[in-house]
Amino acid sequence: MTNQVLEPDILIVGSGIAGAALACAIRGRGYNVVLVERSVQPPDTARGDHLQPYSVALLENWGVLEDFLAAGAERRLGTIYLSEEQEIILSAPLERLEIPHPYYLYLNHDVIGSVLLKKAGDDKNFTLLRPATASGFSFDNERMRSVNVSLPDDTVVEVRAHLVVGADGRNSRVCHAAGIPARTHKYPRPLVAMFGPHPLPDPRNEVLSFLGNDKITVCIPRIGGIAKIGFTLDPSEIPFWRNSTVEQRREAVAQRVPCLAGYESELAGFFPVIQVTTTAYTHGNVVLLGDAAHAMHPARGQGMNVALRGIERLIDCLPSPRMIADPVQLHAALQRYDAMQKQANTRLLEDNHARARENVGALRAYLGKVAGDQRLTARYVRETTGYSPEPERNLV
Ligand SMILES: Cc1cc2nc3c(=O)[nH]c(=O)nc-3n(C[C@H](O)[C@H](O)[C@H](O)COP(=O)(O)OP(=O)(O)OC[C@H]3O[C@@H](n4cnc5c(N)ncnc54)[C@H](O)[C@@H]3O)c2cc1C
Repeated sequence: MTNQVLEPDILIVGSGIAGAALACAIRGRGYNVVLVERSVQPPDTARGDHLQPYSVALLENWGVLEDFLAAGAERRLGTIYLSEEQEIILSAPLERLEIPHPYYLYLNHDVIGSVLLKKAGDDKNFTLLRPATASGFSFDNERMRSVNVSLPDDTVVEVRAHLVVGADGRNSRVCHAAGIPARTHKYPRPLVAMFGPHPLPDPRNEVLSFLGNDKITVCIPRIGGIAKIGFTLDPSEIPFWRNSTVEQRREAVAQRVPCLAGYESELAGFFPVIQVTTTAYTHGNVVLLGDAAHAMHPARGQGMNVALRGIERLIDCLPSPRMIADPVQLHAALQRYDAMQKQANTRLLEDNHARARENVGALRAYLGKVAGDQRLTARYVRETTGYSPEPERNLV
């Protein structure tokens, strides 16, 4: 039974980082926004927690950087690739770059979500429905005319929005309902992550990526002196890790990388890794954001960062609040957005996929080559920032 009808300018489905960041970034611009999120739980804390320098500049532009710092975000100054015997293969420090924020910012994933969402609430034209599930979609001449949103008391809110944003993750119902073809690739090796006090001195808060002969182990700083250690594994190894004691994990981690001996961890979780690529980012008055449009292997820590850059482009393309009801203007805006996204992301997604499937020996050889050539090192470091190597492509 439909009890209520809402007619916002923009309906956002999903309040992961992509949905919450769009609501935050667009606040105060005069749009009426409804955000629906089906879960009452915060997002999984072990997911994306490192924001590239370009993303930090976006947070500043969106007036939320101070809120991140107040919530405890810390700065990371680079990445070091090492052998398991701690010989440096490549060091990629950021602070010499001439960019406004030559550092990564990191904060636990769930806190990133809550800071963005809280800021979105500053706008009196913002409505959050939670828990609320977008469960029915109806179309009219290729336009998503309305979305039925189910509430826990079995009432249904009908939302008729000019623009519908699918920020509902890698199994996006919005994508499916809009008929946007999506290709999925399941990587054979899931990811395991654990948390514990940092086992090594790390005064610059760097990511330490240990490359063995056939395996990679990554030690990633988290706020408050904690380190997340993660690696991919064969699915047959999951029962061992799932049932392991602190002592068993300590030994198993030390066996992988001897200098990480002494790491006392709790298990953070197992993550099946799936790539989703869609043939288009928009259809009619629907636009896809974040993992709904481009879920990728977390090997290079880019998913959330790519989502934030998409939000910047989308806001840049959108018609003004006065004109968003005009289907012709909206269509033209979304076509522009689609073209910009494809230009920015197609190669990035291919590279990310290639890196995820690459064998460790090839990666070592490549990083060694980069380390031996100053020009290649400079380019590599710049690519880790989220800024385009061609500065005119950046909007910030
Ligand atoms: C272990 C790990 C580490 C990572 N590290 C990094 C990193 O360091 N840097 C980085 O940039 N990225 C990283 N990523 C990737 C990053 O976490 C994701 O790309 C990003 O969080 C995706 O956000 P999203 O909002 O698009 O999707 P999601 O987080 O999946 O959010 C989708 C939301 O939609 C809601 N929803 C779904 N369907 C409905 C519906 N019908 N109605 C209402 N709500 C609905 C869901 O409940 C969910 O809250 C990592 C990922 C993993 C797994």
